[in-house]
Amino acid sequence: MESLKGKTVLVTGSSRGIGAATANFLAGQGMRVAITYGRSKEHAERVFADLPGDGHLMIPFNVADESSIKDGFSKVMAEFGELSGLVNNAGITRDQLLLRMKESEFDEVIDTNLKGVFHCTKLAIKVMMKARTGSIVNITSVIGQVGGPGQSNYAASKAGVEAFSKSIAQEVGSRKIRVNCVAPGFITTDMTDELPEAIKEHYVSLVPLQTMGEPLDVAQSVAFLLSDESKYITGQTISVNGGMYM
Ligand code: NAP
Repeated sequence: MESLKGKTVLVTGSSRGIGAATANFLAGQGMRVAITYGRSKEHAERVFADLPGDGHLMIPFNVADESSIKDGFSKVMAEFGELSGLVNNAGITRDQLLLRMKESEFDEVIDTNLKGVFHCTKLAIKVMMKARTGSIVNITSVIGQVGGPGQSNYAASKAGVEAFSKSIAQEVGSRKIRVNCVAPGFITTDMTDELPEAIKEHYVSLVPLQTMGEPLDVAQSVAFLLSDESKYITGQTISVNGGMYM
């Protein structure tokens, strides 16, 4: 995607999985990428070393901690001087049936998956408003669209991000800033790797394309939404789920 060349992007949670694949794909399109890690510094170092091109940045960035986010943004702005794109990808699950779910498990998921998006989007919008351009892509989930047993905290966080994105798209459209979501289905990463084999087989049986998706499938849709090829698309969600609607 030619329009991405030379532009800058921050990808949260890019030490592993979908975030790592997205960072790599965007760097391959000629973007300067700020990759970030929470706990997995060594993974992030490998991702960083493999990025095509140059001018990239690697920073610690805990999306559940406002001061870490502010610090991370300052480092990105000091290095890049501007920010064309933000991918809010960092996310966690703390699955549990409601009657057994601790308040801390609910809060942890909301703080990371939803409140983190609030803080990061606010800081990115400040920069993008001045530039009168920008694209933000939030990674949600099929679970936020259809729910899932044992995932009420996660589903609420992801549905929240979709509604948040539609609202911000309406707030900032006049400044030529776009806000969209990519909602993955069942993708091969550490997050799904930890599921029992029987559950994985069950999920795959629900996918019309009959296979799990790969992180690169998600990365390519993110790149499209960051690029000028999607310049008339905002407030939308692209589902990358093999047709899965349980
Ligand atoms: P993953 O392999 O478990 O990776 C999660 C990433 O998020 C890691 O890089 C992790 O960084 C980062 N992260 C977690 N908590 C963080 C925090 N507090 N601050 C900063 N970074 C943090 O997960 P994934 O499957 O790639 O998921 C990526 C996104 O896609 C998530 O938002 C997830 O909800 C969504 N998603 C995934 C699937 C799927 O099937 N895999 C389906 C739908 C949606 P550290 O390890 O460095 O802490």
